[in-house]
Amino acid sequence: MSLKFNLPTPLSRAGAMVLHLVPRWSARLFWASSGWRRIYTQGSSVRLKRLGYPRGVYSRLACRAYSAAPGSPEVMLTPERYPVQRLPFSTVSEEDLAAFECIIPGRVITDPEQLQACNVDWLKTVRGCSKVLLRPQTSEEVSQILRHCYKRNLAVNPQGGNTGMVGGSVPVFDEVILSTALMNQVISFHDVSGCPGFTEVLQTFRTCKGMLGEILSAFEFMDTECMQLVGQHLQLTNPVRESPFYVLVETSGSSAGHDSEKLTNVLEQVLNSGLVTDGTMATDQRKVQMLWALRERITEALSRDGYVFKYDLSLPVERLYDLVIDLRTRLGPRAKHVVGYGHLGDGNLHLNVTAEAFSQELLGALEPYVYAWTAEQRGSVSAEHGLGFKKKNVLGYSKPPVAMKLMQQLKAMLDPKGILNPYKTLPDQA
Ligand SMILES: Cc1cc2nc3c(=O)[nH]c(=O)nc-3n(C[C@H](O)[C@H](O)[C@H](O)COP(=O)(O)OP(=O)(O)OC[C@H]3O[C@@H](n4cnc5c(N)ncnc54)[C@H](O)[C@@H]3O)c2cc1C
Repeated sequence: MSLKFNLPTPLSRAGAMVLHLVPRWSARLFWASSGWRRIYTQGSSVRLKRLGYPRGVYSRLACRAYSAAPGSPEVMLTPERYPVQRLPFSTVSEEDLAAFECIIPGRVITDPEQLQACNVDWLKTVRGCSKVLLRPQTSEEVSQILRHCYKRNLAVNPQGGNTGMVGGSVPVFDEVILSTALMNQVISFHDVSGCPGFTEVLQTFRTCKGMLGEILSAFEFMDTECMQLVGQHLQLTNPVRESPFYVLVETSGSSAGHDSEKLTNVLEQVLNSGLVTDGTMATDQRKVQMLWALRERITEALSRDGYVFKYDLSLPVERLYDLVIDLRTRLGPRAKHVVGYGHLGDGNLHLNVTAEAFSQELLGALEPYVYAWTAEQRGSVSAEHGLGFKKKNVLGYSKPPVAMKLMQQLKAMLDPKGILNPYKTLPDQA
C-alpha cells in the first residue's frame, strides 16, 4: 500500500485527505535508468536487474580519441576540473588488447561511440578517457583479466550500471573499464528502517511507526521544491494540495485487508491531530507507480534543472532539514534551488543544490561548509551513495585517522599495486 501525505507548516494546517488502497501483492514499481532497472516487488525487498549493453561491431584501436556524440553536451574531463594527477600505471597496448581478446573473444570494446557512455557518469559531471571496455561473463574471466592487468600494471575501473552519484563508476584517466553488465544475475536485499525525529514530518513518522509497526516498509520525505521540480521538468502531477513538505508512506503486510484497516486508523489519527492537510492513497498499480515516481524521479528532475551539487548525508533526524534552510540563506541567488529529501527513518538527507552551471565559487561556498556542519552534528558525509571519486577526501569528517589507516591497509593487502579503481574511495593522504 502507498499513502502520500501532505504536511503543513505550523502556519498552514488546512486540508483534506484522500485515500487509495492497493493490495501489497500487486504493488510493483519499475525504475529504469542507464544500464539497470530497479524492481520493487513483494514486501520490502528490492531487486536490481542489470541490463546489458547492446551488442555491436567494434573497431579495435581504430579510433582512439574520445568524441562526444553529435548534439550531446561535452562533459569536462575530470583532471581538468579536479586537481588529480595520473599515477604511473601502464597504458593499454595492442598486445594487451590481444590478450583480452583471447580471454573474452568478441567482448573487448574499443569503439569510441560505445566507450563514450561508459566514460561519463550518469550525472554528466565527470569524464574519463578510457580506450577499452571489457565485458566478461564469468568470475573466471574477471579473474584472468585482473591477473593480466596486475602483471602489466594496468589500472582497472569496475562498472556496474554506471548509476553511481559520486564519480566512482567511471575512469578518471584511461583506466580499463571492466563492466559487469553481462554478469546479469538478479540480486536482492531488504529495506531498512530507523528512528524518527522533526516537527510535523517527524511526528507523522512516529505515528506511522507506532501504529503500522512491521508493515511500514517505506517513509520518504521531500520538500516542496522537489515537488515543483518534478512537475516543471518531468511534467509529473502532484495529486495533493501544495504544501511545504510531503511524505510517501508504504506498507507491505501480508494481508491487504489488515493493511487497509491499520492505515485507516493511522489516517484518522493524523487527520484529527492536524499533522497532515491532504493526502492520497494508491488503489491500483498505476497509481502506486505514479506516487513512487514523484519521489524516485527527483534526481532526474534535478539534473534537468542545471548543474547539481549533490550531498548524501546522515544526520540526527531532529536537525535533518536545518542544513537546507541554512544553505538557502548562505547561498542566496547563487543557487537556483536548494532542496532536501530522503529516507527519514535512516536519518538520510539528500541535499541538492542546482545552479545554471558548475562554479568554483559556489563549490567554495558549499565545501567544506556542508561537511563541517555534518561533522559538528556527528553525522556522516555519505549515507548511501559511497565516496567514489568526489567524496574521498572528505572521509576524515566522518572517520577518525585510525579508521582510515586501517582501510588503507586492507586495500593495500588486497590490491598491492593499487590498480583497482585508483583515485577513488580512500583519501589521497590517509
Ligand atoms: C535516479 C537515481 C536514483 C538513485 N537513488 C538511489 C537511492 O535511493 N539509494 C542509493 O543508495 N543510491 C541511489 N542511486 C545511486 C546508484 O544507483 C546506486 O549507488 C547503485 O547502487 C549503483 O550501482 P551501479 O551498478 O550502477 O554501480 P556503478 O555506478 O556502476 O558503480 C558504483 C561504484 O561501484 C564500483 N563497482 C561497480 N561494480 C563493481 C564490482 N562488481 N566490483 C567492485 N566494484 C564495483 C564502481 O567502480 C563504482 O565505484 C540513484 C541513482 C540514480 C541514477
